[in-house]
Amino acid sequence: MDQVVKALVGGGEISLTVIKNRDMVQKAAVVHLLSDLGMHALGRVLTAVTYMCAHLKDERGKISATFKGDGAGGDLCVAGDYFLHMRGAIDDPYVYLPKRDGEEDVAACIGKKGTLTVVRDDGYEQPFVGVCDLSSGDVSEEFTRYFALSEQLPTAFALFAETKDDDCAFSGGVMIQPLPGASEEAVTKVGEIFSRPDLKELLKEMDAETFAREVFGAEELSCRTPLYQCNCSRAYLRDVLMSFGEAELRDMLKQDGRICAHCHFCNTDYVFYEEDVNEMFAQGANEA
Ligand SMILES: [Zn+2]
Repeated sequence: MDQVVKALVGGGEISLTVIKNRDMVQKAAVVHLLSDLGMHALGRVLTAVTYMCAHLKDERGKISATFKGDGAGGDLCVAGDYFLHMRGAIDDPYVYLPKRDGEEDVAACIGKKGTLTVVRDDGYEQPFVGVCDLSSGDVSEEFTRYFALSEQLPTAFALFAETKDDDCAFSGGVMIQPLPGASEEAVTKVGEIFSRPDLKELLKEMDAETFAREVFGAEELSCRTPLYQCNCSRAYLRDVLMSFGEAELRDMLKQDGRICAHCHFCNTDYVFYEEDVNEMFAQGANEA
């Protein structure tokens, strides 16, 4: 089962988050028919945004991150909420590139030029929008940079994914963030563990909770289960369509006899017919 584990380490001065989310990335792979490279790219961004959502404090909170880069995969977007219901999409789910040094070339899939935009809605104020220029296309580096520049919180990301025979074999991440006033000693000590060359192998072998305890010496920790789950519904798409106005919808009906609304996060089509449009505006008139 997927896990998000949070703990304080380094004498309580460093926030540690450990995520294992193979099932989430596998669900994304099935929904979008992702290539191995697509899984590597979208999987890492799903992990990073899951981390951000795990630190939302209000039930109304939600976060989205959009990569608009010049890479082969096109734009990539992931969104999620306080309840760790995550979803994502990539322009070209079948993206393929030759491997580089035996690894999927995620940086070339994302691109080195472009932007990472994060919209953070904490649930009680205006959403905060942070935009960062891409620098390397490496997802861990881009989020580390985003946190330093836009949120001004030093946060280190180590994001991993592995695929085998068109399936996600492993996905996860380790994030550390010093609390305000953390001592240099704690930062160095936890930073050394974070930089272990076998970090990925250890995370692969253990569940997130055991990993936090055994590798980072975490004592008290909290554990939650994230899910790949879209929040779209027929009612939601109906509202979106209504915002186009009756004339526009009648026009669309004239062309095809039906209106197809597509949710790109879960690849679901919602089809509306003339009687649905009649009902939309009949009810709209009643409400007015
Ligand atoms: Zn959907």
